[in-house]
Amino acid sequence: MKPEVLLSRIRVVLCRPSHPGNIGAAARAMKTMGLSDLRLVSPKQFPDPEADTRATGAVDLLANARVSDSLAEALHGCVFAVALSARQRDLGPAIGTPRDTMARLLERASLGEVALVFGNETMGLSNEEVLQCQAAVTIPTSPDFSSLNLGAAVQVLCYECRMAAFSGAAPLREQLTTPFTAPPATHDEIEGLYGHLEAVMTDTGFLNPAQPGRLLPKLRRLFGRADLERDEVNILRGILAATQQRTGHGRKG
Ligand code: SAH
Repeated sequence: MKPEVLLSRIRVVLCRPSHPGNIGAAARAMKTMGLSDLRLVSPKQFPDPEADTRATGAVDLLANARVSDSLAEALHGCVFAVALSARQRDLGPAIGTPRDTMARLLERASLGEVALVFGNETMGLSNEEVLQCQAAVTIPTSPDFSSLNLGAAVQVLCYECRMAAFSGAAPLREQLTTPFTAPPATHDEIEGLYGHLEAVMTDTGFLNPAQPGRLLPKLRRLFGRADLERDEVNILRGILAATQQRTGHGRKG
């Protein structure tokens, strides 16, 4: 099944959100990662201009968001639901990591609709809400401060969903210009450069052929790391030739 189809099967459920701004931020977070199905359970204030402002280009998700007054209704028809909570609950599902659990969620998405369930900004999810889910996730944080902003938590999970859907290799947006590529320098071209360098260094007195030390191997090591392109070798040799003209040694090598 195509990654885009799997992502379209993920509902993001916000339980009792208090701040319309966070609903907008969640919509934006979802759309950047290719998710689109936003569900709101008893939002304090929605629709709201603050939600639209924070959603920017994702207002279409707000327009299509379905509002219900129970989590059960938002999860109707789902084959897998994951609770997002900063802490382990009594009898709640064992806490997993975002990465492992999103891999499971995407597997389940091939069988039907699935959901990520987020809690209220001050209270989090209730135990009853957590117990309606089959898995739970805590985003690993600094032990000193574990509570992310709701929109930020949605972003982290949607990103992991996208990575899981594309098996860790989500492509970047298609490039409008083709990236610069150039033919690599060949062995003989690079040897030509080394010979030229050696001649100029000798002519200018930088290299004493009687006592060369490790200068030449070190330069080979430096250029060896550079994946030299043909053009680059030509530029360097042009500089060397210009140097030779000024110093009156003419071109050698
Ligand atoms: N004070 C609340 C946290 C509210 S943050 C509490 O202690 O539970 C709003 C929602 O964002 C949470 O209900 C949860 O769904 C999500 N969230 C925030 N930080 C999280 C974290 N570290 N791991 C998992 N979910 C988190």
